[in-house]
Amino acid sequence: SHSSSSNSETLQQQQQQEAESNAERRASNGAASTSSTAADAIGSSSSSRQGLRLELRDVSFGYAEGGMASGGGRQVLKGVSLSAEPGESIAIVGPSGGGKSTLLRLLVRLYDADGGQVLLNGVDVRELQQDSLRAAVAVVPQDTVLFNDTIVHNVAYGRPGATWGEVQAAAAAAQLDAAVGRMPLGWQTVVGERGLKLSGGEKQRVAIARAFLRRPRLLICDEATSALDTATERGIQASLRALAAGRTAVFVAHRLSTVQGCDRIYVLADGRVAEQGTHAQLMAARGIYFEMWQMQRAQQALEDHLQQEGGSD
Ligand code: ADP
Ligand code: MG
Repeated sequence: SHSSSSNSETLQQQQQQEAESNAERRASNGAASTSSTAADAIGSSSSSRQGLRLELRDVSFGYAEGGMASGGGRQVLKGVSLSAEPGESIAIVGPSGGGKSTLLRLLVRLYDADGGQVLLNGVDVRELQQDSLRAAVAVVPQDTVLFNDTIVHNVAYGRPGATWGEVQAAAAAAQLDAAVGRMPLGWQTVVGERGLKLSGGEKQRVAIARAFLRRPRLLICDEATSALDTATERGIQASLRALAAGRTAVFVAHRLSTVQGCDRIYVLADGRVAEQGTHAQLMAARGIYFEMWQMQRAQQALEDHLQQEGGSD
């Protein structure tokens, strides 16, 4: 049989994904047990329906090398400052390896910054109780980890103790209900090992339904649709926008067309914010963003052309 992890880079990516899905799992488990005092530090959920204020202040970070505790490695983030007001959606785009995923890992404290601060409603995330942070933040990852269980259980996992009505409402909001309706066993369909019986788009809808169920005040999406074909991606993007409405959201995206409506777009290149602004401002600036946009538009035109000719992915 074929091994998909024949090189160390792939293995490293897998380990990273596992670490992230563990964090996602911890985040979900923590949601039910938030103490009110911890939640108060970043505002109770009733008092902040518009989401949290997010700010990164001159953040630097390097992955530790050779087992050093921290800060020993090459700098991956070099003085990054950005912000999202309550209810805003911001995007982080830029070349692969620029530090986008790393930045998101600091938001959920998979790692802590070596320098500078990550602030939620003005509070340094290092001063927050983990439960408080977990209750406030939901992550829609690129590759959602599903359990070999029914669809309804896979969604309900977003918030242990959720009622059937809440699970159904979340699934409907994520537009998962139509797909489930087409399955002979409906909600009782078992998704298979790692969700293999679901399409990529259906898996992402489970992830979005989970996030809806958690009612996060900060939503984080890391290339949540980049593995999907363009048509599926459009549908999922609409669900993500619905999820982001009335919350603070951070989208890391490969395809720029998916984030052009964001309130502000940050171009992260080589660990620094190289450009920032709205889509229109960045296009007018004719810099990195403009060049990426031109390149992707040409790529898309080619893909559309090849698809029309009956080529497959
Ligand atoms: P992006 O998401 O923009 O593609 P990443 O944040 O994944 O960028 O990576 C930024 C840099 O950090 C890259 O040079 C990458 O190789 C490195 N890097 C990412 N994850 C790790 C890790 N877990 N350990 C060590 N280096 C890493
Ligand atoms: Mg990344």
